[in-house]
Amino acid sequence: MTISPSPHFVIFPFMSQGHTIPLLYLSRILTDRSITVTIITTPANYSAIRVAIKNNSINIIDIPFPQNVVDVPPGIELTDNLPSMSSFIRFVEATEQLKPRFEELVSSLQPAVSCIISDGFLMWTQDSADKLKIPRLCFYGANIFSMTMCNVMAQFKPHANVGSNDEPFLVPGFGKMKLTVNDFEPPFSELDPKGPALDFLMKQQKAMSRSHGLVVNSFYELEANFNEYWDRNYGPKAWLVGPFCVAKPSAINYSDIPIKVMEKPTWIQWLDKKLETNDSVVYVSFGTQAEASKEQIHEVAIGLEKSNISFIWVMKPKQLQYIGSGFEDRVKARGKLVVEWVDQMEILKHESVCGFLSHCGWNSMLESMCAGVPVLAMPLMAEQHLNARIVVEEIGMGLRLWARGKVARGLVGQEEVAKVVLELMEGEGGRKARERVTEVRKGAYGAMKDGGSSSRTLDSLIDHVTG
Ligand code: UDP
Repeated sequence: MTISPSPHFVIFPFMSQGHTIPLLYLSRILTDRSITVTIITTPANYSAIRVAIKNNSINIIDIPFPQNVVDVPPGIELTDNLPSMSSFIRFVEATEQLKPRFEELVSSLQPAVSCIISDGFLMWTQDSADKLKIPRLCFYGANIFSMTMCNVMAQFKPHANVGSNDEPFLVPGFGKMKLTVNDFEPPFSELDPKGPALDFLMKQQKAMSRSHGLVVNSFYELEANFNEYWDRNYGPKAWLVGPFCVAKPSAINYSDIPIKVMEKPTWIQWLDKKLETNDSVVYVSFGTQAEASKEQIHEVAIGLEKSNISFIWVMKPKQLQYIGSGFEDRVKARGKLVVEWVDQMEILKHESVCGFLSHCGWNSMLESMCAGVPVLAMPLMAEQHLNARIVVEEIGMGLRLWARGKVARGLVGQEEVAKVVLELMEGEGGRKARERVTEVRKGAYGAMKDGGSSSRTLDSLIDHVTG
């Protein structure tokens, strides 16, 4: 009798934190199901992945990133570190030079590779998968709501007759749901798109349509009607198998560790003190990618100061420069600024944290949901405006910050920041959002446990690619 080897999944994340982190969680989930997992990355990303994965049974292999890429400084192998997002497409295109080495590697791995899960931006991996006759699944990091809405825009152009980018229009096929042009980025916001952004998108969509489906970091109960609409009208099939952050090991229990060996990070110590004095804290972060303007950072800072609520703000060095001197001293008693990489989930799960002022990156939204923390939605770029719509209007687990004139884009003023922060912490809107996020949290954990919707979908996905 021959014993068939265990399935072997190759995971190839795109080189940005928001796209890599969820696939690391997914690798843990697959390993827990006795699947062999190999993660492919590039040399500059290797150590961070090794540290984050916390699991020696997962193989990590790096292949060299191309040198001499126009507008991409040497050694930059993560889009978060690009000097400007204007070099993003060039960065993505450069990854195609990894193709020969990727194919050589995948064909040599043992046991033989049963499935490739690679990022949608690494569109050339579809050609490799076809050549090597290995099923490929595509991952974008986005929810199925935003992907469906973008397709609906391209197909029906429901914005054809609006008077302005802020005038709401009905979304065909979705009852009373309304969106605005400003909820979308080009090319979806345009009526007659042309140029490099469209070409880039078309290439990705062609590759995705040839794949065995989309792996989606979400769960059926959260976006049932969008999931069904997508599978019925668009495709390839969306496999909703998340939220992956549930797979993260729980936050370190510092009381189990001798103090000299492991000190709590200063921000966790600060949150502990806030808990002792019964102070509720808002966590603020605009993620790894978004470039908020100097004016916007200033308005947020002053709004937080005016709200009189305690806050912890994890920011990039550039954002600290924008805030300038004086602010930290003025808010010293109740505000903490952190310019380091933090374990965001650990912060969100801290008992003193009662709200998350966020740019609405989808990972952050799922992490907030799984920690049971309501969101203050302040989207900045990419599909974040759509995430804000689903989180606030469809799911109801947060409140929205609007730009002046109650519009989706533009400067969010300090009065708005102060008002909405206070409403979340002390008002009726905050109470409702808190109640709702508690229910959604239960749904998220329920989906991931044995017999839950995401767990069953993952079983079918594994059968599909290995059967
Ligand atoms: N993150 C983190 N520590 C930090 C900053 C970010 O752990 O100091 C993580 C965060 O928990 C999330 C990811 O980085 O998993 C950011 O992804 P998201 O989709 O929220 O936003 P993006 O940065 O891609 O815009």
